Parts: sequence; structure tokens; C-alpha cells
Amino acid sequence: MEKPTVKICKEKTLIMKKPILGIIGGGQLGCLLSVAAKKLEIKTVIFSDDPVAPAQHFADNFICGDYKDKKNINNFTNLVDRVTYEFENIPFDILDTIQKSKNVIPKPEINKLIQNRITEKEFLNSNKIKTTEYAVIKNKNDIIKNEKLLPGLLKTTTLGYDGKGQYKIHNINDIDINIDFSKEYILEKIVDLQKEISVVITRFGKNQYEIYNPIENIHENQILKYSIIPAVISNDIKNQAIKWAEYIVENLDYTGTLCVEYFIDKNNKIYANEIAPRVHNSGHLTINAYNISQFENHVRAVCNLDQIETRQLHNAQMINLIGEDILEYRNKKLDKNIFFYDYLKKEIKNMRKMGHVTIIE
Ligand code: ADP
Ligand code: MG
Repeated sequence: MEKPTVKICKEKTLIMKKPILGIIGGGQLGCLLSVAAKKLEIKTVIFSDDPVAPAQHFADNFICGDYKDKKNINNFTNLVDRVTYEFENIPFDILDTIQKSKNVIPKPEINKLIQNRITEKEFLNSNKIKTTEYAVIKNKNDIIKNEKLLPGLLKTTTLGYDGKGQYKIHNINDIDINIDFSKEYILEKIVDLQKEISVVITRFGKNQYEIYNPIENIHENQILKYSIIPAVISNDIKNQAIKWAEYIVENLDYTGTLCVEYFIDKNNKIYANEIAPRVHNSGHLTINAYNISQFENHVRAVCNLDQIETRQLHNAQMINLIGEDILEYRNKKLDKNIFFYDYLKKEIKNMRKMGHVTIIE
């Protein structure tokens, strides 16, 4: 039967209309996603439980309140066409409630798998992607049974970021430090690090993705301080890191931008450290060093816009401005190759990421 013309017109307008994008979380990644969306003429709504969430200054609309409150969820979903998120520590139930009315991308089930360090590592190892040696820890005795993993890092299985929720355990006598065993932990053997790298990738569909060159990352006090491209690594390591990232997104049937953090040890062995099912701090330099940033590619993939070939334009270095580092840059005149980003956070706090600068070559 011939399709009625009017229906075809309707479908066309539906395809042409740009969706309004809801973003859960209001931190710096929400700021930079909103800026990228604006460039694509896509309106954004931030949903955050923080009344001073910096992303509200960059988005078109802001819903503030407890994520669990059905009223807030409804207010948010009524304003948007589809939903993404800028941090992975969101309880699955909340994303699941939201996905009953609006498309949540990446899929909440993927976030659930990755937000727990144990299921994340099981996923990697079951796909033959090497990780550090580890054990699940429920009490002090479990640490003693796994003495072979010392010196190790004891990490909470969920809710950790920027090194929070981590304890270094040098040897068995160290265990008396105050550890709250009402939470579950993972004990990881400490890797004798040569360097850390990350691979940022945006997947649009089956075997369709844009991949950024590996980025070299330098941490201070377990917080990312510098990201640099190109990463100085062998071709073998580069190819392995890229292959694993491709494998991960295909295997998860992922949509959007994802980052894989890797350790390289002193014997030139590579291990996947963790996966971030979102845009990533190490990818900030893609804003100035590539024709399309990780943020723009995320918005493009999530909103079903065109995939554009992503090319590196410059070598670059990104410096995170942590705590009072930001003061030096506010009101400073900068050379043309230096780009300063202020997340406009209300309060300067120690160890808090306040902004960043990217220097391009
Ligand atoms: P977060 O979720 O806080 O980013 P990570 O597991 O990535 O947690 O740890 C933060 C940083 O701490 C890493 O980038 C690395 O510098 C250091 N680190 C974490 N685990 C190990 C390990 N097993 N061996 C050596 N260094 C580690
Ligand atoms: Mg990390």
C-alpha cells in the first residue's frame, strides 16, 4: 500500500527537529557538554542535586533537587527529549526510572556494570583485556588471605573518584588503619608505573566510531594534573590500547563518548585500569587540538547527528587548575595558543578541579 504523503512529511519533520538534551550531573563535564551542544544548536537541561552546580551557568535550563525525588525526575523528563549523564555514580534505579519515559544514552545497564570496580574488572578480564591482579575484600581477614597483592591499593567498589575512597596498604601490619568494612572493597596490586595513558572513543553505531590518539596522563596525589598528546609510547602499546577501546565499545554496544584509562608498567606491559562511560578529563584537550571535541562527538552520537571524520590539528598539553591554581589565570592575558577554561565554581577548595588550560603547538 502506498504511504500517505502526510505521514512522510511528519517523519521528516521529526528527523529534522533537534532534540533537547537532558544531562544528569552539573560539574565541569556538564559545563563543557553544554557548551558543545550550544555550538550544535541543541538546548540542554542540567539536572543536579547541587544548588551551586557550575553547569547551570552554561546550560539553557536547570532542575535542582534530590535525584531520587519523583517530582524532580518528572520535571526533568518533561523538559527533555533524551538524556545523558556526566558522572557514573548515579544509582541504577534513578536511570532506570528515567529510561521508562525518555531514552537514556549510554544505556543505564552499561553504567551499572562499570560503576562497580568488581563487575567492571570481571567484564574486562572475561574479554581477555588485562587488568591489575585484584581480590574482593569484605573484611580484614580477606586482606591477610591476599597478602600476595601487597603493596596494594584498597578501593571502595563504588563511588570513588579522583583517588577518593582509596587506601594504600604497604604490608600486613598496615591494615589497622581505620577502614569502614560496612562497605565492600577491592584490593589491587600496585603496578610499578612507567606511565599512564587514556584512549577516548566515540561510538555512533556498529563499527562506526571516531577515536582520538592515546593521551599521556600525569597524576599528582591521585588527581589528574597534566594530559599530553602525543603520548610517548611504542606502536605496539598504541595499537593495543586502541584495539581494546574499540573492543570495549563494540562489546557494550555503546553509544557516545567513552574513555579507557591504562597503566603501562616498567616492563612495557599494558593493563586497563578503568573505563569511564562518559566524556573524560583527559579528553579536554580535544576541544582545541581536534576539529571535533570529545564533547561535541558525544552530543552528536547521543542526539543522532552526523558523524564527522575527527582529525587531530595540533599537539597539545592540558593542565588541570586545582584549588587556588585558578587565581593566577583569572584576568591574565594569555598568548594565542593558550586556552583557559573557568568552570565558574562558587567556592575554591583544595584538591578541587576549578578549571583547565590547554596549550597547543
Ligand atoms: P579514580 O576512580 O579515583 O580515578 P583510579 O583507580 O583511576 O581511581 O585511581 C586514581 C589514580 O591512582 C590512577 O590514575 C593511578 O595514578 C593511581 N592508581 C590507582 N590504582 C593503581 C594501581 N593498582 N597501581 C598503581 N597506581 C594506581
Ligand atoms: Mg581513574
